[in-house]
Amino acid sequence: MLGAMSGLLLVISGPSGAGKTTIAREVEKAFDDAVFSVSVTTRAQATKDREGVDYRFLDEAEFDRMVDDGELLEWAGVFEKRYGTPRGPVEDTLARGGLMILEIDVRGAKQVKEKMPGMFGVFVLPPSPEDLLLRLRSRQREGEDKIQKRFGEAQREIAEAQNCGVYDAFVVNDELGRAVAETVGMVREHRARVAERG
Ligand code: 5GP
Repeated sequence: MLGAMSGLLLVISGPSGAGKTTIAREVEKAFDDAVFSVSVTTRAQATKDREGVDYRFLDEAEFDRMVDDGELLEWAGVFEKRYGTPRGPVEDTLARGGLMILEIDVRGAKQVKEKMPGMFGVFVLPPSPEDLLLRLRSRQREGEDKIQKRFGEAQREIAEAQNCGVYDAFVVNDELGRAVAETVGMVREHRARVAERG
């Protein structure tokens, strides 16, 4: 007989523009016991960002304080700003047996893998490099120089993700509904397997 669903740390990464945030939020909706990790960051708040929902926006001093006090499970500098995962909600959710979802970059995922090797890693891929460039441009959030910088960074991140051994699955976001269903299915299967092992 299958046991109760077990706690799982799901780490979702992918280059900016690949749709990982949308996929992560859809996975959150698919599980009653899912909790989405609200990262802290020193980057400026964009108009669409909701404080305390998408990120907690901190100044450099407050970010330093969290690092010094060991309050972050991982953190990394991305595009000259810092991003980190508060440790508390991760530990509380896993202790309750819930599904904890982290949407973080590859360097962050490597740190998490070392501390919590039982994590399940999903890397979201764009269907093609051309498609990624189109998506980055269509967001119209940034000028062309920044878009090119993110595009170069994205290609390096994909190569690193494929070589670092942290990710259990690579999901191609060719069609959102299909990519979400694939991810949800893998998470369900993985949790069932872990529960069976007891
Ligand atoms: P954005 O500024 O576009 O929201 O995010 C930029 C990058 O930072 C994305 O690759 C995103 O996955 C990553 N990121 C967001 N939160 C965290 C975090 O808490 N830790 C790490 N290591 N990366 C993060």
